[in-house]
Amino acid sequence: MTTLETPPPDASGRPTAPLPPVPPPSPSAPSPAAQPLPLPRTPKVRTAEVLVGFWAFFVVVVGLWIGQGGVRDLSAGWTPAWTSISQITGLLASALGLAGLVLVARLRCIERRAGLDHVFVWHKWLGSSMAILVGLHVGASLVYWSDGQSLWQSLVDLTGREPYMAGATVGALLVALVTITSIRSIRRSLSYETWYFVHLTAYVGLALAFAHEVVLGGHFTGGGAAWWFWVLAHVAVVVALLWGRWGRLLASMARPLRLTSVQPVAPGTVEIRLAGKGLRHIEADAGQFAILRPLAARLWWQGHPFSLSAEPTTAGLRFTVKDRGDASRAITELPIGTRIAVEGPYGALTPDELDPHRRLVMVVGGVGVAPARALLQRLPRTGPGDGPIVLFRARSTAELVHFDELRALAQARGGTVLTLVGPSATLAVGDPFSADSLRSAIPDVAERQAFVCGPERLIAAARSGLRAAGVPHSCIHFERSWW
Ligand SMILES: Cc1cc2nc3c(=O)[nH]c(=O)nc-3n(C[C@H](O)[C@H](O)[C@H](O)COP(=O)(O)OP(=O)(O)OC[C@H]3O[C@@H](n4cnc5c(N)ncnc54)[C@H](O)[C@@H]3O)c2cc1C
Repeated sequence: MTTLETPPPDASGRPTAPLPPVPPPSPSAPSPAAQPLPLPRTPKVRTAEVLVGFWAFFVVVVGLWIGQGGVRDLSAGWTPAWTSISQITGLLASALGLAGLVLVARLRCIERRAGLDHVFVWHKWLGSSMAILVGLHVGASLVYWSDGQSLWQSLVDLTGREPYMAGATVGALLVALVTITSIRSIRRSLSYETWYFVHLTAYVGLALAFAHEVVLGGHFTGGGAAWWFWVLAHVAVVVALLWGRWGRLLASMARPLRLTSVQPVAPGTVEIRLAGKGLRHIEADAGQFAILRPLAARLWWQGHPFSLSAEPTTAGLRFTVKDRGDASRAITELPIGTRIAVEGPYGALTPDELDPHRRLVMVVGGVGVAPARALLQRLPRTGPGDGPIVLFRARSTAELVHFDELRALAQARGGTVLTLVGPSATLAVGDPFSADSLRSAIPDVAERQAFVCGPERLIAAARSGLRAAGVPHSCIHFERSWW
C-alpha cells in the first residue's frame, strides 16, 4: 500500500521535499483561558425505543380501523371492501407521513443517538412508503367511487363535489412531486436548494390531507376516540416541528456568532473561526457539524453543513470550508465580522461513541479531515502502538489539509498519520482500501475500531475493505451522505 508518513509524494506520485518540522501543538489551539464548551446534555433514546414508539402508533391506527369495522367490511361486498381499503391505506399513509415529520423535526434525543444522516435515511424510507400508500389510497378511492363510470370521470366527480377532496387531490399531487424529485437520478440533476424547497411542499400536502381526513373520513365522523387520537397526533407533530425544526432555526438566527478570522489552509480551502455571545447557548462536541447560515444578502436563506475542525471552546468554533460551489465559495470570501447563524451542532459521531477499549484507525479524505482532527483532540494520550492511526487519502499533497496539525495530534497520542496521495490511476496498488492493503499497512487493523469520513466513494471503499479485513460492522463509524 502506498502509505508514507513523511514526506508524502506529490500528485505525480514522486516524493516531495520533506515537510517542515512538526509545529508545536496546533496553531489553532485555543488560548489558555478557553474552556471546552459544555457537551450535549440531551439524553439519547435507544433506536429500539424509537421503533417501539412508531410501532405502537401504527398499532393504534390499525386498531382503531379494525374497531370501526375495517376488517369486517373487507368481506361485506364491493363498495364497503374498497372503502375500507381506501381508509386503511389513507390512514397508514398519513401515519407514515407523521412519523417522517417527527424525524425531520430533528428532536435532539433521537438525533443524538442516530445522527442526522441516519434520521434522513429513515425519513426517506417512510416518505417512499407513504407515497406508495397514497397511490393505493387514491386508486382504491377511485374504484369504490367509480360505480360504473370511468376512473377519470370518477376522479372529476370525486374532486369536484367536495372542496376538501379537491384539496386532498392537490396534496396527493404534491406528495407525488416530492417523491419524484427525490429519486436519486432526478435529485442529482437539481440544486440542493431547488430540491429542498420542492420538498417543503410536502408540509402543504399533509395539511391538505389532514383536512379531508377529519372532515370527510368515515372513520372520524361524529368525533370520538379516533377523531381525538388523530387530531392530537397532528398537533403533537406540529409542536415537534415548531420546536425542533423551525424554533431552533429561528433561535440560531436570533443569536448568531461573528466571523473572526478566515485563513487559507489549502488551495480553495479556508479555516474560519466564529465567536460571540451566542456561544453560551451552544452545547457541542468534537466530531459534530453545524448548519451555517451567513446573515448576509443572498446567503441568509440557505444553510450548509460544515464539521467542526477543532474542539469547540469558549474561544469559538472553527470550521474548514472547501469551495465546492456558490455558497461555500461565498463563505470563504465573507468579510470579518459577518454574522453567521449556527444551527446545531448535530451529529452522533462524538468521542462517547468510541469504544475506550479498542484502538482506533481513522480513514479520512478531503475535508473529511475536519471532524477527524477535532476528534483527535479529544482522544486520551496512549503509549506508542496503542495510539490512533490516521489514513489520509488525497489526490495531491496540496489537499492534505491540516496535515501538520493532524500529525502533531496523532503523535502526541502515541499514533501516526499515513498518507495515500496521488490520483487513483497512479497509486501503486489497485485498491488501496482492500483488506490486504489495509492489513499490510496496519497489521492489527482487525482489533481496531474505525472512523471513516470523506467523499461517498471513499466511505464505501473503506467500509468494505475494513469489513473484509475483520473489523466488526458495529466498530465502523461513519456518516452517510445526506441526499
Ligand atoms: C454532515 C456534513 C458535513 C460536512 N462538513 C464539511 C466540512 O467540514 N467542510 C466542507 O468544506 N464541506 C463539508 N460538507 C459539505 C458542504 O456542506 C458542501 O460542500 C456545501 O453545502 C456545498 O454547498 P455549495 O452551495 O457551495 O455547493 P453546491 O454546488 O450547491 O453543492 C455541492 C455539493 O454539496 C452538497 N450540498 C449542497 N448543499 C447542501 C446542503 N445544504 N446540505 C447537504 N449537502 C449539500 C451537494 O451534494 C452538492 O452536490 C459537509 C456536508 C455534510 C452533509
